Amino acid sequence: MKYQSTRDKSVVVESAQAIKQGLSAEGGLFVPCEFPTITKAELDEMKGMTYQQRAVAVLGKFLTDFTKEELEDCVARAYGSQFEDAAIAPLHQLGDNAHVLELWHGPTCAFKDMALQILPKFLVYSMKKTGEDNTVVILVATSGDTGKAALEGFKDVEGTKIIVFYPCDGVSDIQKLQMATQRGDNVAVGAVKGNFDDAQTGVKRIFTDKEYEKELLDNHYVLSSANSINWGRLVPQVVYYISAYCDLIRDGKIANGDQVNVCVPTGNFGNILAAYYASKMGLPIGRFLCASNENQVLTDFIRTGKYDCKREFYTTASPSMDILISSNLERLLFDLAGEDDSVIRLLMDKLKEDGSYTVSQRVMDKVQKLFYGGCADDQQTFDTIRKVKETYDYTVDTHTAVAVKVYEDYVKETGDKTPTIIASTASPFKFGDSVVSAIEGAQAVEGKDCFQLLDLCSEVSGLQAPASLRELKTLQVRFSDTFEKEDMKQYVSRMLNI
Ligand SMILES: *Cc1c(COP(=O)(O)O)cnc(C)c1O
Repeated sequence: MKYQSTRDKSVVVESAQAIKQGLSAEGGLFVPCEFPTITKAELDEMKGMTYQQRAVAVLGKFLTDFTKEELEDCVARAYGSQFEDAAIAPLHQLGDNAHVLELWHGPTCAFKDMALQILPKFLVYSMKKTGEDNTVVILVATSGDTGKAALEGFKDVEGTKIIVFYPCDGVSDIQKLQMATQRGDNVAVGAVKGNFDDAQTGVKRIFTDKEYEKELLDNHYVLSSANSINWGRLVPQVVYYISAYCDLIRDGKIANGDQVNVCVPTGNFGNILAAYYASKMGLPIGRFLCASNENQVLTDFIRTGKYDCKREFYTTASPSMDILISSNLERLLFDLAGEDDSVIRLLMDKLKEDGSYTVSQRVMDKVQKLFYGGCADDQQTFDTIRKVKETYDYTVDTHTAVAVKVYEDYVKETGDKTPTIIASTASPFKFGDSVVSAIEGAQAVEGKDCFQLLDLCSEVSGLQAPASLRELKTLQVRFSDTFEKEDMKQYVSRMLNI
């Protein structure tokens, strides 16, 4: 199986190369040249398998330059005891037709673990396969969830180092602690004075510094990123939609072959695209419900065909979806435009120049047939958290609540009773402040520190807080460096001893 670039189809590589490189040289994203299939008989066989066995089966169809043993090794190490639930991605039923897919039982309590636990393992094999013998240095600028998930994924992975920068005022207390206490011999974390954009711009500047690239290479280092456009982050996400469908068959909720819908709280469009790819393989998915917060650039796109990121940016209670440029949408458009790379070049040039683009009527018709776009503001999000708790005695975080709200709106509008998989992307404990105040009122959280909030969230939800969050209280802070964004490169050099 080969991979092609969305902006130049003549660029064709194996998956190991796509994973090592991340982005194609001309800026395009790697996508499979053709999609493998999954048959009804295979789904039937998979319903009796563990998550790990299902993962090996699905990944094997895409990563054909990896051996089965290599994939088994990656999977065993990625989806092991660091997940608090042995099912890895279990379903929780809400009412008659909704099934919440809990993707947050991993070490950092957000769904990014599903991909970032396994990407580093893929990368080590990809480096061997492509003859790379320099040490790969992963640089990440994070607004919270990604940085910690990348640190956990890459810690002590041979042949790699990881350096994460976060804005010193831009992440929550618990996120800051999660990163500052990070263990591992190949990790470093720095706080940058400024906002997320400052950290991001600083990282981009290091990536494009040709002289520095040479200096690093002289010291046997090459830079790489772990961001969500890497194929190695997308492909593990296809697995859990197929796995959820198998669980629904196994538990007698649907018959094999029945259609399901999926509803996904969306930021960069990676998670929902993985569901679309599962359906391209043959998983019977009817509609894709794309849920946004107040940054509703995708809702508007699905409704009008115009993607326009020239708009106000809102900081919301679901911060991991505060995004105006959804990079992975490019992959969907490539597919819906009949894999015409010239169309994608035009659209992406327009986005860069004007901050907006409009797709053709033909593409638009396809988008609207498959996707439903909806959104929720913070008040609606909080109301949904409270209502879900009252009605179902189930506690959801802010991101998941956005999806639940959009699902409810969709059902109201259409009357569609198709069983629906709702992706739940973070543990309620990770956003305890919002969750507790939604259920108990704002006064309940006033003046509480992040550990008191864990206890409160525990009382409210009736669940035990994840061990990885509780233990933060006892861990030593290892990284307390704060510096100006101009000094980020110097920090990298210091951490690499060059
Ligand atoms: C990253 C993230 C999202 C958005 O996922 P995309 O793949 O970027 O669409 C949603 N919820 C949480 C909690 C996240 O961390």
